[in-house]
Amino acid sequence: SIVVTGATGHLGRHVVRQLLEKVPADQVTAVVRDRDRAADYAARGVRLAVADYNAPETFGSLFKAGDRVLLISGNEFDKGRVQQHTTVIDAAGKAGVALLAYTSAPSSLTAALADDHRATEKVLVGSGVPYVLLRNGWYHENYTERLPQVLEHGAVVQAAGEGRLSSASRADYAAAAVAVLTGEGHENRSYELGGDEAWSFAEYAAELSRQTGKEITYNPVSTEAYTGILAAAGLPGPLAAVLAGVDAAIEKGELVVSTGDLARLTGRPTTPLADAVTTALGN
Ligand code: NDP
Repeated sequence: SIVVTGATGHLGRHVVRQLLEKVPADQVTAVVRDRDRAADYAARGVRLAVADYNAPETFGSLFKAGDRVLLISGNEFDKGRVQQHTTVIDAAGKAGVALLAYTSAPSSLTAALADDHRATEKVLVGSGVPYVLLRNGWYHENYTERLPQVLEHGAVVQAAGEGRLSSASRADYAAAAVAVLTGEGHENRSYELGGDEAWSFAEYAAELSRQTGKEITYNPVSTEAYTGILAAAGLPGPLAAVLAGVDAAIEKGELVVSTGDLARLTGRPTTPLADAVTTALGN
């Protein structure tokens, strides 16, 4: 079976949808926490497994020898993600899976956000399980999902100076994961994945102006100011600091990925940021 964890998350939904275009539904197992949120999968004949990274016993007999697994990194920053991911890796190793691909972060990223990924990579590589490191760069959607606030204020507010980043759409990263899960020869490889074109927030603001016909400017602020803005918008303090740290990393160029791995794995150019903006604007 091809087993996908985090299958009801944003990336997981793209992965399962794209897998179903390539393999029969009964060869796909979606690992979910809440069966009710996966009713559409069940209706299509996808197998469901209910498990939680925090409960090792739920992964006890989930994997079978020869499975190909996509471990989508968790989002519970306060619950010890390295231990959570290790739970999945251990279970996969005991079962004798053929492959375990993990959604990591670019090796160039030194921000605190990358610490859990580096530690998980170490566990995985040391586990003896045939691995693939999908070092995903940033999602376009990290920005396009915040378009309503940007349009309301007429400003893109970030703490990244003139830094550039090469983001791609979640669908692009999902396509890379599907290529690895359904292809051959990826064992024990690492891929640095990012969009074909790097862009700056000033260019992003210009693109938003172009597509909306409204004046939208880039307002670069300090790390401290940005942390405060995020906290005021309701983000927990530690998460606000982590995200501000990401902007500092962007300013240093740590989220520019220029390997071409993503386009090569998917066999097509990555989605331009302008297209993601068009989609988000509903045009
Ligand atoms: P989502 O937050 O949409 O999905 C996270 C998934 O992880 C969900 O399916 C969630 O399950 C699952 N999950 C979280 N905790 C547990 C747990 N304890 N047990 C089992 N499953 C769990 O994120 P995306 O899909 O957008 O991105 C995937 C991952 O990539 C993120 O979790 C994060 O690690 C990382 N990320 C990458 C970004 C980037 O720009 N490259 C940006 C943001 C995150 P459920 O569906 O039940 O909630």
